[in-house]
Amino acid sequence: MPKHVVAAKIKHETNGFNRILTTLDHFRDYELHAGSEVIPYYRGTRLEMGAFIESADLYGWTMDVPVSTFANPSGVVADGAFNHLCGLLVEGLQSQSRIDGVLLALHGAMFTESYGDAEGELLARVRAVVGPQVPIAVTLDPHANVTQRMVEHANIITAFRTSPHTDQYETGMRAAKMLDDTMHGRLHPEMTLARRPSLQGFDGARTYVPGGPMLQALDLATDAQRQHPEVACISIQAGFSRCDIAELGPTVIVTTNGHSSNGRVIAESLMDFCWETRMVWSDPLVSIEQAVEAARHQVASAAPLVLGDYGDAPGGGSYGDSTRLLAALLQAGITDGALAAIHDPATVQQALSAGVGAQIDIALGGHSDPASMGEPIRVRARVRSISVTGDMVFKGPYGTGTRRSFGPSVCLDVGGFAVIVSSRNLGLYDLEQFRIFGLEPADFSVVVVKCMQGHHAAFDPIGSRTLDVDTGGLTTADLKRFTFTRVPRPVWPLDAIPATS
Ligand SMILES: [Zn+2]
Repeated sequence: MPKHVVAAKIKHETNGFNRILTTLDHFRDYELHAGSEVIPYYRGTRLEMGAFIESADLYGWTMDVPVSTFANPSGVVADGAFNHLCGLLVEGLQSQSRIDGVLLALHGAMFTESYGDAEGELLARVRAVVGPQVPIAVTLDPHANVTQRMVEHANIITAFRTSPHTDQYETGMRAAKMLDDTMHGRLHPEMTLARRPSLQGFDGARTYVPGGPMLQALDLATDAQRQHPEVACISIQAGFSRCDIAELGPTVIVTTNGHSSNGRVIAESLMDFCWETRMVWSDPLVSIEQAVEAARHQVASAAPLVLGDYGDAPGGGSYGDSTRLLAALLQAGITDGALAAIHDPATVQQALSAGVGAQIDIALGGHSDPASMGEPIRVRARVRSISVTGDMVFKGPYGTGTRRSFGPSVCLDVGGFAVIVSSRNLGLYDLEQFRIFGLEPADFSVVVVKCMQGHHAAFDPIGSRTLDVDTGGLTTADLKRFTFTRVPRPVWPLDAIPATS
């Protein structure tokens, strides 16, 4: 009899310092599919769900996918949204006559109005339906905060091994294989979780800089697996520090086949490495002044200078309407540039009403939190192009096949700078996010993308140089700017901690 698997995806990376509550509409606007529409939507994508669907064919499972959803990283998730999404999964599980395994794509940094550890709560609800014997396999983002409750209720947890995350499919395939091995009795997974009192580590999971701490840790993990055949998987998470929950920061999970004391030894030794390298940042951020200076010296004939707006990354839960970097570049007289994207629905509406070619007086961006994101830029702009839907399909290496949308959106000419303005806040990962407006990023001297790390996959290859700029928004690297209330103290880097702890 074929094994019957229930799969689902419920993902969110919650920025606890973002003041906007994340509702069901945020999930609907970004990605929410249920029932029979799920499999056709994801088949062939290089995402975890694409891999789950392919694995069902590969291993001969029958599979149901009650829900697959994701929202752009944003503020605390409304309990109503969380309960609704979990409810779709729980009802999907309850409606099955038999379940041999559960396969879940989670992010691992979601928290809701009531649950700091939303994934732990979700897994507990799944476990309550399927009982203690049915294996539950989970994929995570390496920016996951892993809690003891997650490890308690899941059997297999494995995170992406890249940042930018170009191995989402491979991670899905790895989890599916371990689930198949477990369902057939070839694997008896036991997980060990280790952590340190730190908000960050493993170089933020960066794998785009050769020789960085995350790559070194992955090499150490591979060596450990080679030396200890009972180790089935080692998952390394850098954590997401803008959550403000009790169990926050970098972790390692070692999964062994049956009990082995080596699980604890390996997990602790990798966390020792994390602690020793906690200050290493393989791609140091630059200031706005340094970015402007680099733009001034950019040779027009060279491939573009790419500037990542690290402090205002919608992909890390920032508002996406910081004007700090753009204002500085405009003030310095930099004109041959393109930027994606300022989240400003009112300006979009104004431009749509005026039409292509029209000149409009705008107050661009800076509406969410002018004190930390900069004031609106008051300027006359020309409407360069319009995208009525703002829809695109990612064609680059990051989440290939992903469908996303800016919503109705426009490209404005602001003092010669091509500025994309969106009605939905959206992380920047793919060249298509420019191309839908008729812009070819490689044609500009300076390309600005609001992103922390994910842009390196698609934009480094077209640029002469990429600099990430700490502009001081909701995803700033300066964690001392935030007021953490739930994290146990002392914790590095907020407090001094002896190096041996
Ligand atoms: Zn991530």
